[in-house]
Amino acid sequence: MVKAEAVHKSFGLSHVLKGIDLEVNPREVFCLVGPSGSGKSTFLRCINHLEKINAGRLYVDGRLVGYRQQGDKLYELKEKEVSAQRRDIGMVFQRFNLFPHMTALENVMEAPIQVKRETKAVARERAQQLLDRVGLGDRIGHYPAQLSGGQQQRVAIARALAMQPKLMLFDEPTSALDPELVGEVLDVMRDLAADGMTMIVVTHEMSFAREVGDSLVFMDDGVVVESGHPREVLMNPQHERTKSFLSKVL
Ligand code: ATP
Ligand code: MG
Repeated sequence: MVKAEAVHKSFGLSHVLKGIDLEVNPREVFCLVGPSGSGKSTFLRCINHLEKINAGRLYVDGRLVGYRQQGDKLYELKEKEVSAQRRDIGMVFQRFNLFPHMTALENVMEAPIQVKRETKAVARERAQQLLDRVGLGDRIGHYPAQLSGGQQQRVAIARALAMQPKLMLFDEPTSALDPELVGEVLDVMRDLAADGMTMIVVTHEMSFAREVGDSLVFMDDGVVVESGHPREVLMNPQHERTKSFLSKVL
């Protein structure tokens, strides 16, 4: 579903991704862990072309992200084509970024109506189902300010799902939450995983990675240091850098 081949990304002189190779299979829960500044968010942003890579190849669902290849030349896609690619990728951030002046229901209905030109009736029906699914069927008329952090994050997940993405990217979705609210968001993600959604999850929640993850990559300083089944990497890390990181978060 996602394939990275020798992906490099720099910001000016700062070389942030230094040749990332990895592959995420369909229906897989792929956990990305690593210290602050290692390039995890940058990598996620490259996947939906919010950042342009400087070298290498990045594919989502068999298609180059942001480019079209002809012979051995690459041509940048037009903004419209990039938007079409992004539509298949849902993203959930640390901060929920809900529209504050819209209810939970309106937040979830917005993109399908604006971007996919769905009718209000169709969008409303799916939004209601999705809010039910994330356990907020009784909060659809609430504004973000009237919801807890965990509830807001669950609305954010429902909002991403409303576009019926093939792939979901989560960037530390629980790290801005009070500890007692983390579980309800992880439960929604667990449910999504069980339903077969392909997910890339940047997280410090190692118990989630161990229980739900199919693969885990440890990144440091812009490279993949080690990868494997989460239980293997977490219980038997091979590299000093992985051991040292895990000793701080486990
Ligand atoms: P954290 O765990 O703190 O979220 P991260 O692994 O997600 O860290 P990134 O946010 O990807 O790390 O950042 C990696 C490096 O790239 C950092 O040194 C950061 O300062 C730099 N960086 C990220 N975005 C930009 C940008 N738009 N311009 C310049 N430098 C950037
Ligand atoms: Mg980050």
